Amino acid sequence: MTSEALAHAESLIAGIPDFPQPGVLFRDISPLLADAQALRTVVDAVIEPFAGQFDVVAGIEARGFMLAGAVAIAAGVGMAPIRKAGKLPRPAASVSYALEYGTAEIEMSDDLEAGTRVLLVDDILATGGTLRAGQHLLDELGLQLAGTAVLMELVELQGRAVCGPVHSVFRV
Ligand code: AMP
Repeated sequence: MTSEALAHAESLIAGIPDFPQPGVLFRDISPLLADAQALRTVVDAVIEPFAGQFDVVAGIEARGFMLAGAVAIAAGVGMAPIRKAGKLPRPAASVSYALEYGTAEIEMSDDLEAGTRVLLVDDILATGGTLRAGQHLLDELGLQLAGTAVLMELVELQGRAVCGPVHSVFRV
């Protein structure tokens, strides 16, 4: 993957002002996902630092799923969904975490053997609470965190102070 290919992929992430509420600049990865070359470029970039070091990719609902499925196929491993509470028929663990207003809860099934090496992925790192909760969930299920990766890190929100080392393909 070249720096030109990465720059082109980044240019396809749209910034939508005031969505879903006033003051938020929503980073929409849909145009990037729709571009075959850009999708391949970012998938390879997500995998690169962790190649050969993970057995499964876990994606956080909902945009993390899209990325996790693509990353899993490209890396030749399986994929595990981390879902919002109430969506899984057999949740084995759940973790609550604080949002700006209120709380959220995510859950995971018990489909992976303890010790499985998991690459945790999501689309955007903002305050870090979501990825931190995902890491706790893996921990509760006895899974090994092989790494944490996002497409885009919103640097000024300092999310990595909350969720620890993250591989971010793009930093803004
Ligand atoms: P946080 O827990 O604050 O790091 O928020 C990360 C989660 O919220 C990710 O699952 C993102 O999909 C979503 N998110 C947060 N901020 C944005 C943003 N500006 N644009 C798009 N998604 C966002």
